[in-house]
Amino acid sequence: MNLQETHECPDCASPNIVHNQEREQIICRECGLIYEPLSPSTKPERAKPKAAPKKAKPKKRK
Ligand SMILES: [Zn+2]
Repeated sequence: MNLQETHECPDCASPNIVHNQEREQIICRECGLIYEPLSPSTKPERAKPKAAPKKAKPKKRK
């Protein structure tokens, strides 16, 4: 869903919504829903961590 093109509440479909550009939120004044399509702060942990490529690295001892 594109935030900029959203003109009604995703929950109650009311057109009485406020766009918070700064926080990239849609706030519904009808039901009080705060819709965050890109909530970076509440992002869940990465399911797939970056797998480091295994290199055959010979250990050097001094
Ligand atoms: Zn609503």
